[in-house]
Amino acid sequence: MKRAIVAAVLALLVLLVVLMLLPVSGFSRGARNRCRYNMGLIGAALGEYAAHHGGAFPPSLKHLVPKYIDHEETFVCAMDHATYTYVPGLTTADPEWVVVVYEPEPYHESRRFVLYRNGEVELLDDGEFEQKLKAGRDEPREP
Ligand SMILES: [Zn+2]
Repeated sequence: MKRAIVAAVLALLVLLVVLMLLPVSGFSRGARNRCRYNMGLIGAALGEYAAHHGGAFPPSLKHLVPKYIDHEETFVCAMDHATYTYVPGLTTADPEWVVVVYEPEPYHESRRFVLYRNGEVELLDDGEFEQKLKAGRDEPREP
């Protein structure tokens, strides 16, 4: 009798854990899609801004609102609500793979989104991210 109760309680606990995990994984997938989408929008907006400003990207992402992007919510991670980090001072003359926007922390299952100068978006782990960011910083700039 006691064993049956213990087994029932354990089964119930397992069920509860499963139920708790299901919506979370659904949410994190949604947040990941949202962030990928945000980054894509920012990439397109930066390209448009540069086209109107002699190839130069804006001093900050806020300069994109409201002409190129509707609202500043686009600059916020859907998972953690942290604002994306912007690398100012780049132009369309910089190499395509230089990181322009990135998430300050790896919010998506130990990975973070980055936006490259050419508008491409990628989800990177810490090692890949540090490498890409450093490569962009080391790139010699035209005076
Ligand atoms: Zn995010």
